[in-house]
Amino acid sequence: MFTRMFRLSDVRWAAAALALFALGAAAQFGGAPAWAWITAYAACYVAGGWGPAWEGASALAKPRFEVDLLMVLAALAAAAIGQWFDGALLIVIFATSGALEAVLTERTAESVRSLLEHAPERAARLVDGREEIMDAAALAPGDLALVRPGERVPADGTVEGGESEVDESTLTGEALPGRKAPGSAVLAGTLNGTGALEVRVARSSGDTVLARIARQVEEASEAKSKTQLTIEKVEQPYSLAVVGATLALIAVPLAFGAAFESTLLRAMTFMIVASPCAIVLATMPPLLAAVALAGRHGVLVKSALMMERLAEVDAAAFDKTGTLTNGEPEVERIEVLRGDEARLRRLAASVEARSEHPIGRVLARIEPVSPVARFEAVPGRGVRGAVDGVLVEVGHPVLLDADDDAHGTVAAFEAEGLTVAVVLADGRAIGVIGLTDAVRPEAAAAVADLKARLGTEPRLLTGDHPAAARRVADAVGIGAVEASLLPGGKADRLAGTRALYVGDGVNDAPALAASHVGAAMGGTASDLALQASDVVLVGRRLTALPAAVDLARRARRVARVNLAFAAAVILVLAAWDLFGTLPLVLGVAGHELSTVVVGLNGLRLLSRRHWNERRTPAERAVAPLAAARSGADVR
Ligand code: ADP
Ligand code: MG
Repeated sequence: MFTRMFRLSDVRWAAAALALFALGAAAQFGGAPAWAWITAYAACYVAGGWGPAWEGASALAKPRFEVDLLMVLAALAAAAIGQWFDGALLIVIFATSGALEAVLTERTAESVRSLLEHAPERAARLVDGREEIMDAAALAPGDLALVRPGERVPADGTVEGGESEVDESTLTGEALPGRKAPGSAVLAGTLNGTGALEVRVARSSGDTVLARIARQVEEASEAKSKTQLTIEKVEQPYSLAVVGATLALIAVPLAFGAAFESTLLRAMTFMIVASPCAIVLATMPPLLAAVALAGRHGVLVKSALMMERLAEVDAAAFDKTGTLTNGEPEVERIEVLRGDEARLRRLAASVEARSEHPIGRVLARIEPVSPVARFEAVPGRGVRGAVDGVLVEVGHPVLLDADDDAHGTVAAFEAEGLTVAVVLADGRAIGVIGLTDAVRPEAAAAVADLKARLGTEPRLLTGDHPAAARRVADAVGIGAVEASLLPGGKADRLAGTRALYVGDGVNDAPALAASHVGAAMGGTASDLALQASDVVLVGRRLTALPAAVDLARRARRVARVNLAFAAAVILVLAAWDLFGTLPLVLGVAGHELSTVVVGLNGLRLLSRRHWNERRTPAERAVAPLAAARSGADVR
């Protein structure tokens, strides 16, 4: 009977009902007078039944019909015909299984909340070299925080001083501690190793990656899956039909002169075993357990609905820059066409200083920067702005006029497989920059695993030119490449398919939204991409994707098995009651047991065993250590 949310206080009421029932049974079979055991049973009714009765009655006012009410009615009917023992047992089993569910639900919620508990409460802020101890929540962007050895990082930010190894496993599932030095990004809630770090705070505490994960996982448990919504839609008419059938089961036999007591018992038993409690509980727990487990391994699936969709995915498509590559391109070649190299570098760096694109962030570092006016980014194309009164554009070679003399250099760079950015001053090319971007070490494994799971050829969709795209595609084992796409073009390729799209940039937002499931690379991804995505790879490991697909499929399988089992139990018990003689107590026990079994079967997916991510040998060596360190997570 799990249509309402059970709370932990129900555990105490259930225990009281159980004790009173034991007392009543002992009195009854020990030969005590009837008033004694009837009093005990009546008290048992009150302890175990007032909660569901109250909630069921308030639901009626909405109006909504709760099956809980049926339980109480059935128990009262049993008492009315003198079957105190059966009625009290019904109440006890009902209350106990409700309490058990409360414990299980609490356990799922806890494993979600444990993600949050890693945020430290106090932080040390450095002000003019002096240290101030304060609430971590009060740290503001721009503050400088000191993180001592073994402490947790209090806020998202960038290291300004010191060096250390930081263990990010709680947040990203990444088993290897990462080396952090000035310039590295650190995340709130991660564990500092043996060094001391000075961290410039980038985001306030409500906005950290950790807080966002916790919030989204919380929202995930509220957004119901498609299957669940369908089930809940038919639940009401179904329950009312059960009540109708129950009334008919009483009225018809009585009209034909059947005995009152046995008729009532049979009808009550039918009402209980036909209730859809186990069906209602069949699908959400496995999906939510999967959301929690994936979250612990650095894959944030934003809702149970998305977990369900992840199981349906039948193809994969990837962005190139920042997704298959690590998003830290290096400048390989600079060709100056007009003016000197210093000017070229300064103009390009100045406009790119405002860009969020990986190419922009790298180019911004090639020279100190001058002020920019009228900055504008064109996703998938480049950036422009005014520097010293000159209109500077940096970006894709399509920015060039057809007769520009830069085309030769562009063609030469492209033939080398370099990613090309042209630099224009007042509409004419002043230089061409060639970049390479290293492929992520785990990308090839992830592509191969996804191909094996989905049975289709993964695709590469990029705004870069075909030769650079081909170079990366070959390195990771992708056969199908579409290059020179604008952001809308990527989205067109995915609309209406059941593809999983993985991307990171502003230019990927339309594709992330259009795909069946959009996954954004955490950490480097733009806020827009994070917003448009359904899954965030907080741990930035592509190999987590095939593992997440496996998990989603397993959750779907468990949900289906649960549904079939719950329906079978209802059919068997109802048939037994209608065509044979099913004792009320046995009916109640079978019904509640099936509900608990279904719930437990779903929560099974919280176990670490169900996360099978391909790891490099070095990671595999430290994984048990990391697991041991995070203690409670080893299950
Ligand atoms: P991808 O799809 O591989 O992530 P994008 O669509 O982001 O690539 O970019 C496509 C091309 O546009 C790049 O290869 C580059 O030539 C150009 N480009 C985009 N943004 C910038 C920028 N900020 N600076 C320079 N070039 C850019
Ligand atoms: Mg990209």
